[in-house]
Amino acid sequence: MLYDFSSFFYGENNILLDDFFDKYTTHLNDERNSVSVLTGHYKNILNTLAEPFEEENILTLFEELAKHEVLLGHPYVIMSNEMHNFKAILISKMAEKEQTNDIIRLIFLFKKINNSIAHIYLHSYIKQLLSINMIRINSISDLIDRHLIKHYEAHLQWLTQLASSIQSEDSTIIPELNESQCTFGKWLISEGKNIIHNNSKYHAICVMHDNLHLFGKKIQAYIGKEEYHILITYLEKCELLSLSIGTELALADNILMNTKITKDALTGAMNRHGLKSVFESQYEISLATNNTFVLAMCDLDFFKNLNDKYGHVAGDEMLRLFVNIVIQYTRNSDVVIRYGGEEFIILLPAMNKAKGYEVLEKIRRKFEESSQIFNNQEVKATVSIGLLEIKPEKYYNQKFLNEYINIADQKLYMAKESGRNRVEVC
Ligand code: GH3
Ligand code: MG
Ligand code: MG
Repeated sequence: MLYDFSSFFYGENNILLDDFFDKYTTHLNDERNSVSVLTGHYKNILNTLAEPFEEENILTLFEELAKHEVLLGHPYVIMSNEMHNFKAILISKMAEKEQTNDIIRLIFLFKKINNSIAHIYLHSYIKQLLSINMIRINSISDLIDRHLIKHYEAHLQWLTQLASSIQSEDSTIIPELNESQCTFGKWLISEGKNIIHNNSKYHAICVMHDNLHLFGKKIQAYIGKEEYHILITYLEKCELLSLSIGTELALADNILMNTKITKDALTGAMNRHGLKSVFESQYEISLATNNTFVLAMCDLDFFKNLNDKYGHVAGDEMLRLFVNIVIQYTRNSDVVIRYGGEEFIILLPAMNKAKGYEVLEKIRRKFEESSQIFNNQEVKATVSIGLLEIKPEKYYNQKFLNEYINIADQKLYMAKESGRNRVEVC
């Protein structure tokens, strides 16, 4: 189909382009290289719009632009927002010239353009989702002691099947949509219900799972309808819910594990033998649920002096006090491990460094403020902490644990060097 908007341009292309870049492109500012390439794309588009053109030509130009944006990793919402703004600028210029018929034609043309852009984004998203989901599934099946999280594997398979059915536009291969009939759902309402004692977690998981299926049903209704932007939104929602279910299950898993593991007799913390398996599980689960987690290395300050001054028994009490404070200020799913004499490792699943810092800073402050009376003397101590955020990006390797501990140790050393009684973050 031939379009002719040339009468409205009168060679003012650059003004339109300037308007566009001045007002609307925010994310381009920090990526100077991509700006010039994108500017090139938009120039081509405007030059084409300024002459009579065939529909396929303009669609091809926008598709090239979309492919470029996909390569740059710009999210679909930003791209579609740009398109909306681009269209709005064109329409307002047309409105100034009262070209009503052109406006209507342009709106219909942009509907097609948006859909072809969404199609490109959807397929690139599905490709990425399928490959990352395979890594997630593998990292769960690699877990030696898989606990509850093994049931989550079923829902990752479900998500893969959902994405595949969108990819092939075949709604007959869509996974089980009834939330009480899918593999995970069946487990959730029977055995799962008995195992997850923590009611609020169970309820949260059920609600997320119901919603996941709701969006699955919506997706089914849109397959083959060429409404790709809607499919992107629903699929993103499904992926997010799926990851959140995994995170909640992993946290529930840790709570169960914390009640089973062997404890250090003096402090009640987990003993060092448990560290490796807990860390490995945490790593694989974080990979599967696309989460970061925090490892913190804690060492009590001047503890030798404290023992010398007040005696070993007073020292023991302070170790116990420290662990009690950690337990009080962390979630049931967090883990504290006695790594050595007065050294502890704290693992905070599903946590970033900013939140982790808040938690550990609270523990540090509380410990500093606390004291115990021993032989009529007030005994006080402080702790130094090195904090590391871990973002798993590849399969677990035996070397990782020591590497991460070394990094956290270096931060701990910095905390000691800069005066002790502080938290240093990587
Ligand atoms: P820094 O601030 O540099 O960490 O000084 P520090 O004295 O804490 O350092 P160092 O690591 O040299 O000393 C640790 C001390 O912790 C040595 C030991 O007497 C004490 N300690 C280790 N395990 C225990 C324990 O189970 N009970 C008691 N009471 N003390 C312990
Ligand atoms: Mg020490
Ligand atoms: Mg010490």
